[in-house]
Amino acid sequence: MQSRRPQANIDLAALAHNYSRVKQLAPHSKVLAVLKANAYGHGMLAVAQALKQADALGVARLDEALALRAGGIARPIVLLEGFFHPDELPQIVASNLQLVIHHREQAEALLAAQLDAPVRVWLKIDTGMHRLGIYPHEVAALYQQLNQSANVQGPLRLMSHFASSDELDNASTANQLALFRQLTQGLAGEHSLANSAAVLNWPLSHGDWVRPGLMLYGVSPMADSAGADLGLQPVMTLSSSVIAVREVKAGEAVGYGGSWIAAHNTRLAVVAMGYGDGYPRAAGNNAEVLIKGKLQPIVGRVSMDMITVDIGTEPVAVGDKVILWGAELPVEQLAACVETIPYELLCNITSRVQFTYN
Ligand code: PLP
Repeated sequence: MQSRRPQANIDLAALAHNYSRVKQLAPHSKVLAVLKANAYGHGMLAVAQALKQADALGVARLDEALALRAGGIARPIVLLEGFFHPDELPQIVASNLQLVIHHREQAEALLAAQLDAPVRVWLKIDTGMHRLGIYPHEVAALYQQLNQSANVQGPLRLMSHFASSDELDNASTANQLALFRQLTQGLAGEHSLANSAAVLNWPLSHGDWVRPGLMLYGVSPMADSAGADLGLQPVMTLSSSVIAVREVKAGEAVGYGGSWIAAHNTRLAVVAMGYGDGYPRAAGNNAEVLIKGKLQPIVGRVSMDMITVDIGTEPVAVGDKVILWGAELPVEQLAACVETIPYELLCNITSRVQFTYN
């Protein structure tokens, strides 16, 4: 029986398929699989356990890396934001984590630290995103200092991050790539630039390491496509159940604020999924769900625990399964509908949702 609790089913075969798709597109690159934010909402430990072939795993923060180590993950783990305070360094060394160094103060703190063993460092260069990354004029000097330090396990790895690789006609990616090449010319060390969109769109950027996140989960980083268009398989199916079916008469208003008024007599399915589960509130009076293979509109506002769906005369009953997103209803479609990106929808899933892996 379908449980009342909203369900996220994680298809590990789809995850493996998407990983092979990365390898097919970037056959000569190693893969740093990005698992931050609970593996984009999919469950970090389970994804790490499943992605055995990945050469390294990337997380944003120390607590994420420590959770992976506590879960028995022994593979290389890269802290994509490096460290925040030098006090974290002993634990980083003890847990054998790799560091991204992205600003001068961080580099200086690492150089000044007394460490039991050297750490592997990825030097992040700002080539145009202007968020994290050392300035171009600092590259040569910081590279030398870090490479010569006993605290650094050489040679450094060199990386940068693209701002707009999801936009095929945006010249900034080629400009970032050209600047990266110019700044790293003659410097030993492996290169890494490509996020999912660059793995898909910019083969010249693949280099020694690609860093896919979203595409591993079967989702497209481009606004005008879905994962399936790119040979990917969605990993998460988010579903729930109908908890009530009721009739409404023409003229009756539904839900908070009475924001939807029935134009004619109809039937509503009340579905156990709300913003308390991470479903976007902007989907109210806007998006669709899938019940018994048919798309049905959400009417009225999304509440904390429920949505209401106009099912008309469809033979829908209490207990029926409702798909919020998945292979037949891409999360990209909902993201476009509520004017966000699929990244945000996936990350927003809350702990009220029950996860199953198969
Ligand atoms: N590399 C870095 C440094 C990142 O911050 C991220 C995610 O934002 C990625 C790679 C993966 O990006 P995507 O999920 O678009 O593949």
